[in-house]
This record gives sequence, C-alpha cells and structure tokens, in this order.
Amino acid sequence: MKDLNSLNKLIEAFEELPSIGKKSATRLALAIAKDKFKALKLINAIEEVVTNVKECEICGSFSEHEICEICDDPNREKTLAIVESAKDVMVIEESGSYNGFYFVLSHLDDENIQKIRDIIKNKEIKEVIFAFPPSVESEARSLYLEDKLKDLGVEFSQIAQGVPTGVHFENVDINSLAKAIKLRFKL
Ligand SMILES: [Zn+2]
Repeated sequence: MKDLNSLNKLIEAFEELPSIGKKSATRLALAIAKDKFKALKLINAIEEVVTNVKECEICGSFSEHEICEICDDPNREKTLAIVESAKDVMVIEESGSYNGFYFVLSHLDDENIQKIRDIIKNKEIKEVIFAFPPSVESEARSLYLEDKLKDLGVEFSQIAQGVPTGVHFENVDINSLAKAIKLRFKL
C-alpha cells in the first residue's frame, strides 16, 4: 500500500535484523504503529545503545566504557580465551564456567595478533584457550595463532568437543558450552 510508506520502511528495517523474517517484521512494525508509548521507549533504548555501547579497546567485546569491566578486573584468572564474536563472550560469561580474560578475534591480521601479544604480556597470561566452534578453518586458525604466540611461553588449549561441529555458540545450550570450556584440553 502506497500511503503506508513509512510503515513499509520500518518493516524493511526490521527485516535487516538477524532472525527476523517478513512476518515478524510486519508484526513488530504494526505493534509500534499502534502503541506510541512503546515506540518512544524503543527509540530511546536504541539511541542509548548507539551512543553508549562501543567495543572495548583491549578485547573488542561490548562495553559502555573504553575498557570493559572484564579487562579492568584484576581478580580474573590469568587465562585468555580467544573467541569469534562479542556475542560469544556474553554466552560464556552467562555460563559462569570461566573466569579469565577474552579476546574477540573478528579477523586474523597482524594488528589483532599484536593486540593478543600485548594482553598476554600485560596480564601475565599463562594459558591461551582457543574457544572457536570446531571446524577445519578454526583448526587452521588455532595452529596459525599458536605459531605466532609460542615465543611468549604460554600454554595452549582448545575447548572440548561438547560443541558439535559446525554449530554456532548461540545455538548451543549453556551447559554444553560450560562443559566444553571446563573440559578443555592442552595442545
Ligand atoms: Zn575488554
């Protein structure tokens, strides 16, 4: 319908979000058109996230400060879990099975490797855990990282196979991920 241009624009914007199809997008847009109060609350919340949430300068995870509360915590164990996305940090933190530091490796390049090396030195890290979902690429990436970090004298380990191959962490129940980290094995 042509006179519903703005509503259609909102539906399209929702559809661009992960796991929202046309049906859900339409339902959400209609709910917002119907309830101005809810709509304003949502605008407000989105605006706050856009203004306040950024990537931690050390680990790349989400934070409302330059340095996140995990990187800033002196009581954490001297282990460093390297994960694929900031979302994985949230999943692992929620599992409560891990009390070390993190690094979000969004892509493998020299700059990120240098950042990992800095964390290992500054936090006196003893063990680096490759917490990638098991796959051939993950294995190649772990081997490459191990080669680039081995001169620092740290131990390397990998999360156990509790996480099924090819499945992303958000689809893995918290218990099996917690187990995978607890049952990690040395490389
Ligand atoms: Zn951080």
